Amino acid sequence: MANYKQRALFEIKRRRLLAESAADAVAEEVAKDPRYSLLNSECVALGFKIARLGALKEDTGTLKEELEKKKAERSARLKELGYSESDLTPHYRCALCNDTGSVNGADCVCLKELIYAELREGARGVPTDADKFDDDLLKGIPESMRPSYSKAYAILAKYAADFPDNKAPVIGLSGPVGCGKSYAAGVLANAVMRKGYSVLFINAVQLNNLFLKYHRAPVNEKAELFAPLTGCDLIVIDDLGAEPLFNNVTANYLYALLTSENEGHFVITTNLDFENLRSRYGDRVASRLADRERSRLYLLDGKDLRLTRR
Ligand SMILES: [Zn+2]
Repeated sequence: MANYKQRALFEIKRRRLLAESAADAVAEEVAKDPRYSLLNSECVALGFKIARLGALKEDTGTLKEELEKKKAERSARLKELGYSESDLTPHYRCALCNDTGSVNGADCVCLKELIYAELREGARGVPTDADKFDDDLLKGIPESMRPSYSKAYAILAKYAADFPDNKAPVIGLSGPVGCGKSYAAGVLANAVMRKGYSVLFINAVQLNNLFLKYHRAPVNEKAELFAPLTGCDLIVIDDLGAEPLFNNVTANYLYALLTSENEGHFVITTNLDFENLRSRYGDRVASRLADRERSRLYLLDGKDLRLTRR
């Protein structure tokens, strides 16, 4: 996360400097004009005088009117030079934080947006832009199935809300083709990225190809191949079971990935139920997915959402 935030802050600083140097450039340009320069010093001097008299609680006489007149003259001269008053003040992109990235010590919306954009850019395969589990998501789902989907969405929404302090950092969502698992996992991925955490959303076929490449690569090139799988906060493996099963590769590397980090966060969607997962990937992977301490495997069959137990 730190990297993403640093990059976003760098971009915001760039925006600030850009806005300020544009205003500075105009100030420098108009200062070259003797008439403008004179009017400007007169305005400043009058401003000081008024402030001093004000502090002493003395009458400022006609000084204020004089100042207004001078300001109008200065403004007119500025216009003759091709500029307006507003060209002299920096135009920050974000009016909330003036391109500093923070408001009262908290991260500004613009910074959060930038971090999110960066994270989305890195995540790529996420199948939706939605980032909230609201009622809109249920619109396309048949009435009879809505209760089970509501339940599933509530569980995923809680996962995103708790992230990264999830009681069960591994979630499996099992259900038939077309039940919207991938979409729901995509919403979850976006919701996690909204919190500033990085997500890798990878299809099981792509993941399996990566495993095979790794398996066949010369030793000195292996680490590089796995770089995308390391250093992200959440890995979503979409449609596990759709990939061809390579001997000595698929199940072994899948197990290695799932156990690579003790507290690793994974969300897995699959068409397979628990028994099928076990027969396909073996006991080790199955028990990792069904480990009650850190995993939850849900079965979404359209009618109901059930937690599968070993
Ligand atoms: Zn801002």
